[in-house]
Amino acid sequence: PKLVYDFAEGNKDMKQLLGGKGANLAEMTNLGLPVPPGFTITADACRAYLETGAVPDDLADEIDHHVHLLERKMGKKLGQADDPLLVSVRSGAAVSMPGMMETVLNVGLNDDSVNGLAHHSGTPRFAWDAYRRLIQMFGKTVLGMDGDVFEDAIEALKRAKGTHDDLDLDADDLRTLVGTFKQAVLEHTGREFPQDPRTQMDLAIEAVFGSWNSDRAILYRRQERIAADLGTAVNICSMVFGNLGMDSGTGVAFTRDPSTGQPGVYGDYLQNAQGEDVVAGIRNTVPLADLEQLDKTSYDDLMHIMATLEGHYRDLCDIEFTVERGKLWMLQTRVGKRTAAAAFRIATSLIDEGVIGTDEALQRVKGAQLAQLMFPRFDTSAAKDLVTKAIGASPGAASGQVVFTSAAAVEAAERGDKVILVRRETNPDDLHGMIAAQGVLTSRGGKTSHAAVVARGMGKTCVCGAEELDVNVAQGTITVRGTTLSAGELISIDGTTGEVFRGEVPVVPSPVVQYFEGTLAPDAGDELVASVHRLITHADEVRRLGVRTNADTADDAARARRFGAEGIGLCRTEHMFLGERRESVERLILADDDAEREAALAELEPLQRGDFLELLKAMDGLPVTIRLIDPPLHEFLPSMEELAVKVAVARERGSASEHDVTLLAAVERLHEQNPMLGLRGVRLGLVIPGLFAMQVRAIASAAVELRARGKDPRPEIMIPLVGAVQELQLVRDEVSRVLTEVGVDREIPIGTMIELPRAAVIADQIAEAADFFSFGTNDLTQTTWGFSRDDVEGAFFSRYLEKGIFAVSPFESIDREGVGALVRTGVERGRATKPDLKLGVCGEHGGDPDSIHFFHEVGLDYVSCSPFRIPVARLEAGRAAL
Ligand code: PEP
Ligand code: MG
Repeated sequence: PKLVYDFAEGNKDMKQLLGGKGANLAEMTNLGLPVPPGFTITADACRAYLETGAVPDDLADEIDHHVHLLERKMGKKLGQADDPLLVSVRSGAAVSMPGMMETVLNVGLNDDSVNGLAHHSGTPRFAWDAYRRLIQMFGKTVLGMDGDVFEDAIEALKRAKGTHDDLDLDADDLRTLVGTFKQAVLEHTGREFPQDPRTQMDLAIEAVFGSWNSDRAILYRRQERIAADLGTAVNICSMVFGNLGMDSGTGVAFTRDPSTGQPGVYGDYLQNAQGEDVVAGIRNTVPLADLEQLDKTSYDDLMHIMATLEGHYRDLCDIEFTVERGKLWMLQTRVGKRTAAAAFRIATSLIDEGVIGTDEALQRVKGAQLAQLMFPRFDTSAAKDLVTKAIGASPGAASGQVVFTSAAAVEAAERGDKVILVRRETNPDDLHGMIAAQGVLTSRGGKTSHAAVVARGMGKTCVCGAEELDVNVAQGTITVRGTTLSAGELISIDGTTGEVFRGEVPVVPSPVVQYFEGTLAPDAGDELVASVHRLITHADEVRRLGVRTNADTADDAARARRFGAEGIGLCRTEHMFLGERRESVERLILADDDAEREAALAELEPLQRGDFLELLKAMDGLPVTIRLIDPPLHEFLPSMEELAVKVAVARERGSASEHDVTLLAAVERLHEQNPMLGLRGVRLGLVIPGLFAMQVRAIASAAVELRARGKDPRPEIMIPLVGAVQELQLVRDEVSRVLTEVGVDREIPIGTMIELPRAAVIADQIAEAADFFSFGTNDLTQTTWGFSRDDVEGAFFSRYLEKGIFAVSPFESIDREGVGALVRTGVERGRATKPDLKLGVCGEHGGDPDSIHFFHEVGLDYVSCSPFRIPVARLEAGRAAL
């Protein structure tokens, strides 16, 4: 296959092959926008390199060909002594991974061509600075040298000159520095800095390929659930320079505000600088609007191009650009990242502007974004001690102790402490700390700084550019207007307003939650709420999947109902046996004879009946699927180890109580090596006579009572962990008998969970004895993979994620190929027996966006999830139907 594409050969839909950056550079090139010429090496080439450790055979020839084309277009050659062609070598994967992979700029400079560049640009200082930047970047990223080697050399030189400012270093100084750098390369790597431009390019390309598997890239992918085997494309682009003087510069722009979604001119500009300087947040930028004063022509060109791009992509675009001596160049664009709030507001604005329809607007927002909008905010009425106000870069309300290093953040998080990571600026090495912290606060950099971009991507609260703060990492202090905050002190940061407070500020529910609760009207003037209302209403109109909730209490049921639940898909009745009732359960388990057992059941029955009354009342008129008791019995008994010790000690003293001795015998009898595979679910019902019958009587009589009160209770009875139709049939007979006794056998459906592979495979038989199925994908995942759902997360999942065996835990998001195939089988075979068999899912996956799309595809009737995830499920069910 073709491994290299000229920018003119690609387009925006070729992201998988050319990466996001390459595809969009191609798109802009073909739109006639000013993109410096170049070409893209495909992600296929990278994957081949990662698999074999060597670049594919044909790659060198293809690159030669494209270099020649580029040289012809530019009228100059790589390494040309009097006027060299210089290129950048940049990574660019199909999914954006900001700052995670490598870039090498100014490739093509060497001891000869640096003079040509000096002459041609008219500024020797610039040429020598470009050369030292090349050696520095090349040394770090390609040769794997420690960056401090270079930083220290710069510092030493500045000290010798008695200055703190890079700008005081003149051409001769930088020439000296180049000599020092080259010597350092030789000392640290045993080879000379390569003078041949093509060698520089080839090594840089390999380094970019290899950076796909850098530690930080791997960590980022795990965090963002990006597949481990995509690989990155590499863009070779002719250099343009924003650091040729004050008539040059570089910047970042958004076609709308990426934090609120409001239209307008947003971005940052930095005069006389290269792109990396802006993204790194090293120097402070000016607002993009100021460019109009600085360089009206470039500003007008940029505004025009931004309008073109928004019109073309029909969405918010973000842009990186450079001005070289008054000429504007586009270095990158993409449909821009945005906060959750901006996503909703932009989507509905675009409907109003006639750019997109409501279906497309719904496609543009995600369940995960809606979930973010449901986080609490700081209470505006609480007393607050404002420390400073800076840039709200990623919304949310976070409180925690001040920490200054990534390591401290990770340590604190492991202790269970909440922390705010405070830095002058962040860089990709801070990723661990950012993940561990509740929020991130930086004293430098704008909305496009590393901290801001990465925090937004992670949905983590971030305030940046808090220039009033003097952050002293070494001393562990922040000084601000005469006061000092030390490591360990509590602060709170508001990622929406940019405010920083001393102490912990109380939080209040988000307006979006208030809207779902029904306490804030959609037309009360909150634009975000209005957008959410419009899109979720549309989702409800188009979705086919029903949305129910998992709830065991009337409170949860009532909240879920306010959030839009259309019934209960799973009531876990074992949750009703905890607390004070544990003793009755203990008596039940210990019962020696029928009489004792019946007495224990008789104690439990009225309590259960009361539970069901409340639950059915809260969900009046809607289906309530009540699952008969499921978990292993030992969960209701004391720990075997502790009890054994207690009894042994008491025996020693001759004072062991008879109760403890009997209890211990029972605990030992019931002890299981693999309780998850043991006496649970239907097995329990078959082994303990009367237990299920008691629950069914409680359900049925609660329904009768409510009906007598004029209510409309709609219970459904569900049998868990069935693997054979005989199990289900036996229990079903008993359940039916009780229902007949109470006189409600016709109206209460009896169904089962499909949560064992065997059940899915013989679903055609099981359907004979079931009125409905609900897929229990938690247990189905556990038994299909053979992963203990209670143990794996800590034990080895992190390694599995690192190694790319899966990009996300199969307990979080359904494994379509394996577990999903069993769900599909269960659906097909179940419906082969009963074409209108009602099918749902009530495992954790019922609230997971990706999984919801899968359940829609396989034709389930509803998903069931925890109350707080109901809005997300409604939205995603709507999106799945489009
Ligand atoms: C399941 O297994 O998916 C399920 C919903 O049941 P539980 O989580 O209670 O085992
Ligand atoms: Mg289960």
